[in-house]
Amino acid sequence: MTTNLSHISEKFNHIIESYLSIPDNTTGIITETQAALKQTRDYFLQDFFSKLDPFSGEISFSYNGGKDCQVLLIIYLGCLWKLSLNRNEKLLNPHQNFPLKKISAVYINQAETFSSIEQFVKITSDRYFLSLYDSPEDKLVDMRMAFKNYIKFHPTTKAIIIGTRSSDPFSRCLKPIQYTDDNWPKFIRLQPLLHWNLQNIWSFLLYSNEEMCGLYKIGFTSIGGIKTTIRNPYLKQVDDAENDTLQNKFEWEIRNAYGDEKSGIVHSSSISISDQKLIMRDDTSIYYPGWYLTDDAHERCGRMLN
Ligand code: FAD
Repeated sequence: MTTNLSHISEKFNHIIESYLSIPDNTTGIITETQAALKQTRDYFLQDFFSKLDPFSGEISFSYNGGKDCQVLLIIYLGCLWKLSLNRNEKLLNPHQNFPLKKISAVYINQAETFSSIEQFVKITSDRYFLSLYDSPEDKLVDMRMAFKNYIKFHPTTKAIIIGTRSSDPFSRCLKPIQYTDDNWPKFIRLQPLLHWNLQNIWSFLLYSNEEMCGLYKIGFTSIGGIKTTIRNPYLKQVDDAENDTLQNKFEWEIRNAYGDEKSGIVHSSSISISDQKLIMRDDTSIYYPGWYLTDDAHERCGRMLN
């Protein structure tokens, strides 16, 4: 059977439903994440889709391969499946009648990026059926200009989905739906992930069983430019066992991850040789995987400019 966008959307709707049906667990993380997930789904289905039509090119997705926007993309695609079912209740074959073939998405090339994340953007762009506008690498411009160019390229765009969270810098006062600031090209920002914290992101992403960017597996928690991002110092493995207090809070999600193949393994993309060399050049220590860190206050400690 050929897989297309409708199949991925249906699968992601199942992942959402499956996550929401997990019974209460001991740590409380899943229960808290279920509430966050329901809220995000309501933003899409009740607030955004009543004002904007995702099936007519009015909504685009800003995608940089990071964990937050990957989580949001899974939820967005799942919600598209629900929306199409709601609109076509009486149709017998919802796959044949799914109104989209590709998701309009935009990736802005910025200062030197890890080749592993660029590769991950490409791979997932195919896997998730993104029609990805990749801003020209030879004409690096700031984000504002890049989005101005994108709107010219894709003039039906009224709104862009962003995977920003309130704990990101300058994001505390953002709202789930708002216009861009005055000095930005004018469009609506859709930010339905603001209320998620770091452990919500790890819990849902690990349960989804979707391959994540391999850099997270080796100790990155927030990925920016090559020259300004290192592995998170809080994840460095130390010899002194007494001081080594980090633990994996997501064993349940990994062991019971969505799908038939419950390998207990976290799927992650490969890391390029050039990135491996660069990462190990100044620091050969071993780091715990990114999901061992759950304190939002330390999430960006590997980002040297934030
Ligand atoms: P991250 O935490 O890595 O990114 C947060 C989210 O931004 C990602 O999940 C993704 O959805 C998006 N994003 C980040 N980098 C890229 C990229 N290279 N290509 C595509 N998407 C990306 N700032 C303002 O001051 N005023 C504005 O009106 C405003 N409008 C924006 C509209 C859009 C569509 C975007 C993407 C950003 C806008 N910003 C605006 C900038 C925003 O507030 C953040 O500064 C920026 O997204 C980088 O965030 P971060 O460093 O926290 O990166």
